[in-house]
Amino acid sequence: MHYMSGNQTFTMIKPIAVKNNKIGPILKMINEAGFRIKAMKFTHLTKQQACEFYAVHTDKYFFEDLTSFMSSGPIVAAILEKENAVADYRKLIGATDPAKAEEGTIRKLYAESMSHNAVHGSDSDENACIEGDFFFSKMERF
Ligand code: GDP
Repeated sequence: MHYMSGNQTFTMIKPIAVKNNKIGPILKMINEAGFRIKAMKFTHLTKQQACEFYAVHTDKYFFEDLTSFMSSGPIVAAILEKENAVADYRKLIGATDPAKAEEGTIRKLYAESMSHNAVHGSDSDENACIEGDFFFSKMERF
């Protein structure tokens, strides 16, 4: 779509990391890895919004757990920009399962479990676009 050209990704700092006061450390890692923040908001998903955001996982056994958790407290949502943003950000956050995440990754440092895994990162340019549009209007992007 019109906002993205393969150099943007979308992230959320999930409720567990907000609760543990890790917004600052995570944003520092994001900036130090060379990402610029193009849009950002501190917000709280309703259960219905969490279900909509994760609709692709509707049939998975962890869907209820995931959407309850994601609507359990405030999050930080942001659009990040960097060359090769999607792949580089997936590398910075580490594996979905924190037990398998590499040393020095955001999930290795701040995740508590598979569902409480500290951050979200888009898995494709297309999803980065869809997810950014879910949270931000055109006038909220800089
Ligand atoms: P991601 O792209 O690395 O975030 O992973 P996915 O898109 O596959 O899954 C979305 C989110 O659902 C993950 O970040 C996890 O929090 C959660 N999740 C995925 N797989 C599992 C699982 O097998 N068990 C549990 N409890 N949660 C999972």
